[in-house]
Amino acid sequence: MALLLNIGSARDLRAGAGPAEAEGVGLFRTEFLFLGRRDAPSFEEQVAAYTAVLAAMPGRRVVLRTLDAGSDKPLPFLRLPAEANPALGVRGVRTGRLRPDVLDTQLDAIAAAAGESGAEAWVMAPMVGTAREAAAFARRARDRGLRRVGVMVEVPAAALHARRLLAEVDFLSIGTNDLGQYAFAADRQHGELADLLDPWQPALLHLIAMCARAGQEAGKPVGVCGEAAADPLLATVLAGLGIGGLSMAAASLPGVRAELARRTLAECQENARLALAAEGPGEARAIVAARAR
Ligand code: PEP
Ligand code: MG
Repeated sequence: MALLLNIGSARDLRAGAGPAEAEGVGLFRTEFLFLGRRDAPSFEEQVAAYTAVLAAMPGRRVVLRTLDAGSDKPLPFLRLPAEANPALGVRGVRTGRLRPDVLDTQLDAIAAAAGESGAEAWVMAPMVGTAREAAAFARRARDRGLRRVGVMVEVPAAALHARRLLAEVDFLSIGTNDLGQYAFAADRQHGELADLLDPWQPALLHLIAMCARAGQEAGKPVGVCGEAAADPLLATVLAGLGIGGLSMAAASLPGVRAELARRTLAECQENARLALAAEGPGEARAIVAARAR
């Protein structure tokens, strides 16, 4: 199991022991460069920001996620038309339909930064729903010489078609925050619906299991980079489902590593079986917690 970091900028790699312990960066959210701006950051500015992260991880993997704008991450410079349902609108990779120039410049900058660094630059797109979208993104990234190209699984349709997606790309990274939101039709910021958004929801685990199975069949890595990856007990379930990488905030890494080190693969597989079969998230958590004691 690869244990990786979620970061928002190079600054996150300077704090604490996480960076030294992690096998790399599993999710570099590049939005920070774009937030609160009237105009897009220039190619040069982006190259500098990506290089700062890649240079800090020599010999290690850095997964750069292309701009995830829209919905809970509105970006004024994109000047996207107002939408009645932003969470279901032009967001994530879909912004490339209206502003392909922004995505192209970002991919150019990632390719330029990757070429000069000693790190392994992986690139992935958020909010992909179809194999066609995955193929189009992969073509644009590979045309620029990027060799490890993946997509996030955040839309249930993508999990259902994980096998088709993996025919187009090299890896999948499951964003459980959005996958839960869209699987349960429950706004991820809605406090009253927290029970539906619980990452222990057996139906969410089922979607994750479909992706893991597709990854094993294709011989390609499938990881989790949403909040689910940061829960030590749930990490044993994800390992048992066949997930090969967990990406989380640095503070969560030691706890997850310690719990995984205590468990055999067979124990994790049994945890996964029991959690999938549980009636609800509370039951799933209680069953796995009882076995851990
Ligand atoms: C997710 O949706 O789980 C994810 C990792 O992406 P973000 O939280 O940035 O939407
Ligand atoms: Mg997301």
